[in-house]
Parts: sequence; structure tokens; C-alpha cells
Amino acid sequence: MELRSTALASELDDRYSRQILFKEIGAEGQQKLARARVVVVGCGATGSVVSSLLARAGVGTLRLVDRDYVEPSNLQRQSLFDENDARESVPKAIAAARQIARFNSQIAVEPQVADLTPQNADSLLSNVDLILDGTDNFETRYLINDFAVKNFLPWIYAAAVGSYAVTMNILPGETACLACVFPDSPKGTIETCETAGILNSAVSLVASIAATEALKFLVGARSKMRRSLLSWDVWSNEQAEVQAISPRAGCRVCGQREFIHLAGEGRPHITLCGRNSVQIHERERPVDFAEISARLKPLGDVRHNDFVLKFLREPYEITLFPDGRAIIKGTTDTAIARSLYARYVGS
Ligand SMILES: [Zn+2]
Repeated sequence: MELRSTALASELDDRYSRQILFKEIGAEGQQKLARARVVVVGCGATGSVVSSLLARAGVGTLRLVDRDYVEPSNLQRQSLFDENDARESVPKAIAAARQIARFNSQIAVEPQVADLTPQNADSLLSNVDLILDGTDNFETRYLINDFAVKNFLPWIYAAAVGSYAVTMNILPGETACLACVFPDSPKGTIETCETAGILNSAVSLVASIAATEALKFLVGARSKMRRSLLSWDVWSNEQAEVQAISPRAGCRVCGQREFIHLAGEGRPHITLCGRNSVQIHERERPVDFAEISARLKPLGDVRHNDFVLKFLREPYEITLFPDGRAIIKGTTDTAIARSLYARYVGS
């Protein structure tokens, strides 16, 4: 046993040898990666692939923030999860951390089961070198953009829907920010994975580009980073690049330094979160799973583990997290969701 573990330890020293051979990284770059701290916001499709690549590349500390739990429909593209995670409804941040530990136990992973909000942005996004976007919505991206620009912290925007992938590096004080390019959130119907579907190859493409840009930044090759909004349709093969070398004059965020998303003005506590579901995160109030479970047992199918409690009462499914946050599936009506929450969890 002793011999085997020693042999394994020396084999693991060899773990990054092929990456160190790549001269733009080298031994020095690898040491920088080991000291680097990165937060990935959203561990779904893009976030999963990006986290996996950065973990294998040896980024020393990865903080993974995600509000959701694994479902069967995720497995087609969310590469860090398996069928057991979906069966057990494991929160994505936890499942991702567990999977990463299986292939790289030498880095630190900090899973955070949370919805990024103006209130917790400071604690979730501070003390890192770089923020990576693995989210699926503009509201959260504007919040990240506000925080990053305010604190001069670089971040990488990345998104995929259908066969379309888009990404941009935001280097505050240097390049354009997200609000320079998209001053307002797209209104009306925007395509989402729920309506337009998604190809896992579009996800992998955008995640690979974003992860490579992250590596450049972390090893100090900032001048090699792309200064454009890059989009790529893997089905039609259409590609486009919009220059984003410098900030747009008069940009509300990086020009006037008005951070309305971070101030949280008008941000509802009850939000739609795709897939015919509503999220309730009105206030933090720790809940006792055992107590609620006993109370709900006569009313429907209820089960829980350390991370989530699921209560099924047709046609609704309530997923409750330990801090009192809930995702209610089966409706997009916030009033119905609120009343279900009040009835089964408490008001
Ligand atoms: Zn800007």
C-alpha cells in the first residue's frame, strides 16, 4: 500500500507535465495557476465545462456558485453530473465539487449553493482573481458586470443557446464592459435553452474559449486576451466579431460608474427561473428538513437529503434549500408559487 501511494504521489507530480511543456504556460505559469482563485457563477452547461477544464488545468482554488439542483434534462450537456446526481436532486455546486474531487483532489473547491443577489455579491465574488460566467440570464450577468467594474475585477461573459455561442472578456478600466455592448437587457421574448434547445457542442465551444482566455489571464498573458465580442453558430458556421477594445463613451456602468443592479433597486424576491418554475428567495430563514418532512408526509411524496427537500403534490413540485429558498415547479404564476410556499413551507 505504502509503495502504491508513493508511486501515485509521484505520478501526480507529473499531472501538469503536458501543460508545462506548452511554453506559453511553463513551470512558472503552472505555479501562477496553482495560486489563482476563480469564481464560476452558475454550474450548469457552460459553468460545468469551464469548471472542469480549469480544475484539470490546476487552478488552485475554484469557488462554484449555483442555485439549482441536477435534473435528468441537464445530463445531455452538463458534463460534471451523472444519473445518480439527477436521481438524488443533488445541488449542482455540491455535485460539481464532488466530481472534481474525483479527478483532481489537489485543488480547493468551494461549493456555494446560492442564488447570486445584490445582497450576497460581496461575499460570493470577493477575494478572487477572476469571475467566470456560467449563468443563463442577463439579470445575473448585469449584476456580475456591476460588481466587476466597480471593483476592477476581470470577468468573462459566456453564453450558449441553440447552436449559438457568444463570449467576451471584460477587463475593467481597459476594454468595453457588458453594458457598453448591451446597454439594456434584451426585452420581450429571448431565446432560452427551454425554448430553443441547446447543442452540447455549442456549450463546449464557448466554454473552451472562455477557459482558455481565463488561463491567459491567470498566467499573466493579458495582452493575448481577445478584445471583442465573439459569436459563433456551430450549425450554420456563421461567425462574427464585434470590436470591444475600449469602453463606449457615456456607458452607465464603466463610464458613469452607476451600479443600479448591484444596488438591487426593484429586484423582485420572486423570480421566474425557466422550465415552468418560480424561485422564492424572499428572506433567509433556515428550515428544519426533518420537521417539514414529517409535516408534509401525509400530504404528498416528500424526501430529503442534507442539501434539498423535495415535496411532490401534483401538479407542483417544491424543492426547498436549507436557507429557506425554494424552487416551485409546475407554474410560472408567482402568486400561485407564493401561496404554495406559504401553505407548505410557512409564510
Ligand atoms: Zn461599459
